[in-house]
Amino acid sequence: MMTETMTSMAAQIRMPYTLTPGEATGIFLAELGRRRLIGSRHGDRILVPAQDFDGSTGEPAGGFVELAPVGRLEAFTVTERGVLGLVLVDGADVPFLHRIVGFEEADLAIGARVAAVWADAPVGGVLDLAGFGPGGDGPGVPPRSAPEGLAQPFEQVEYTMTLDYQHSYGHYYGTLFDAVRTDRRLRGVKCSRCRRTLLPPRAICDVCFVPTAEWVDVEAVGVVQACSVVHIEFIGQRLKPPYVYAELVLDGTSTRLIHMVGGVDPAEARTAVAPGSRVRAVWSDRRTGSLADIDYFELIPGEPS
Ligand SMILES: [Zn+2]
Repeated sequence: MMTETMTSMAAQIRMPYTLTPGEATGIFLAELGRRRLIGSRHGDRILVPAQDFDGSTGEPAGGFVELAPVGRLEAFTVTERGVLGLVLVDGADVPFLHRIVGFEEADLAIGARVAAVWADAPVGGVLDLAGFGPGGDGPGVPPRSAPEGLAQPFEQVEYTMTLDYQHSYGHYYGTLFDAVRTDRRLRGVKCSRCRRTLLPPRAICDVCFVPTAEWVDVEAVGVVQACSVVHIEFIGQRLKPPYVYAELVLDGTSTRLIHMVGGVDPAEARTAVAPGSRVRAVWSDRRTGSLADIDYFELIPGEPS
């Protein structure tokens, strides 16, 4: 029985990568660990963080300068996870986007004087400068030319970009996933013109481009069209490679479903999971309301094509 339509699920994209900051920014990052703020000189302009090229004029860096780690808050935004601000460091020509920390909300104002707040222990990245907090009173301090003993630039910095978001199902996927979660039932829709059954269900037939009409139950049993053995590891994997991925067509449907085939030695997949092999779903104990509620499909013994 249908109880409700699932509307969305929490999802996350994670993207680990290696940043190669270049020489100037590499020096800037390395020097943060020594509690020095290094800018680059481009003609009569000074950029902080130091850059190899001035993004506005294209002028290459003609040298480095050390700036007093104080400045003025030019703009800010308050988020659930803290305050971000644009800080114009004294002597620099472009503002620096970073965390603003330690302010009482009432004191947060454009034009406020700020000073660097250094991390207790350097970790080797931009957060060696934890942010800018209240302070930095007094007249601006001019940049000091040609700082001595510059650190070797960081050549590579490891980052992971993480994006949390809510994935909206819409009516069709929501109805399917609700039936999966509550009744262990797969539901497709029939096209009103070609009468093909589509699973996952959708509003419009992808062949006729007309609205789909009636809901139908689909048994979690079908036939293998093709298979592949996954050997590489990637984020979000539920199984450790190697494992067998297959393109399946469930009985009565006209669409293909990609899922795992389990209970098979991946080394034997070429013959054991041959096209035409019959399979059925093995449901998980988890009830997440997604096709991951099927742990995998297993071969039906004695039912080759
Ligand atoms: Zn159709």
